[in-house]
Amino acid sequence: MAFELERLVRENIRKLVPYSSARSEFTGHAGVFLDANENSFGSPLDTNYNRYPDPLQIEIKDRIAEMYGIGRGEIFVGNGSDEAIDLLFRIFCRPRIDNVIICPPTYGMYEVVANINDVPVRRSNLTNEFKLDTVAVQDSINANTKLIFLCSPNNPTGNLMDRNSILDFAGSFRGIVVADEAYIHFSDEPSLVYEINGLPNLVVLQTFSKAWGMAGLRVGLAFANERIIELFNKVKPPYNVSKPAQELIRTAIRNQTTMHETVAKIVDERKWMAANLDIYSFVVKVFPSEANFLLVKTRNVSEVYNSLLDEGIVVRNRSNITLCEGCLRITIGTPEENQALLAALTKYEESIVH
Ligand SMILES: *Cc1c(COP(=O)(O)O)cnc(C)c1O
Repeated sequence: MAFELERLVRENIRKLVPYSSARSEFTGHAGVFLDANENSFGSPLDTNYNRYPDPLQIEIKDRIAEMYGIGRGEIFVGNGSDEAIDLLFRIFCRPRIDNVIICPPTYGMYEVVANINDVPVRRSNLTNEFKLDTVAVQDSINANTKLIFLCSPNNPTGNLMDRNSILDFAGSFRGIVVADEAYIHFSDEPSLVYEINGLPNLVVLQTFSKAWGMAGLRVGLAFANERIIELFNKVKPPYNVSKPAQELIRTAIRNQTTMHETVAKIVDERKWMAANLDIYSFVVKVFPSEANFLLVKTRNVSEVYNSLLDEGIVVRNRSNITLCEGCLRITIGTPEENQALLAALTKYEESIVH
């Protein structure tokens, strides 16, 4: 069946008259702004943030558009990519009627946001090698399936999903395929952003939280066909990205080479850590990773986890999630942090052999 965006969108959203902010009703030049109930006197801060920010984040979008060779209209900037995930549900999924497909083990927010929006989730697990089970995903699709979430590189497994499978899904599915590329900068794989032109139902998510190192600013991106981005803009809160966040993102993009240097360091550390973690007797497997973390399967995982906590080191215990029994997810830190982790594991190893 062909992809028809109009039929996919919830009726209330299709008919929605969006909020029209003071600043978007005015075009032209003016020096006196008494239209938005702002405080013209300023604030207790040194820098004045008394004016509302650009609702469409044009300057950021133009820089990103240039970076990827796409149009400004194909970019959504959100309050974290988590905002984009939530908007996808609100635009496309009728509560209790439509459903979405996720492929566990994967990012927990897809399911949480589904639950918040009262949208049923269909789980099509990855295989034991953490690959997409494309037949199972196909079988999970029914007439009310609106979104398929594919995370590549996947959190918490760290591996890429097969690119051609993602593209095949996007080519054949009449709903939306969401490719979450939160970790793409740590991988050698080219982004799927370059594919949005040919695929009107592909939404690619990226974030400034990981490779860019700006999790505290809460800025994420969605890339898609202009008609989908128009829907995001219609539904999002008018001023969803704050002015300081917009300014700092612009500065960061200007210093893009620093990001690439940091990413290269993290990738080097990841390789070094993978080799070093493999040595411990209690480590069963270090899974290959294309992200900024390693999934590590151990014996007596709770004991390992607690021995790290005793040394003041927190990792993520993923033991209770599908296919991840005995697994810790360890973020790659600075060389000092990584060495502290290895020292703590060495101490644990000594405690179990003696
Ligand atoms: C960290 C992460 C995000 C990022 O979310 P933000 O809201 O942009 O911080 C998105 N998807 C996955 C899979 C992640 O691991």
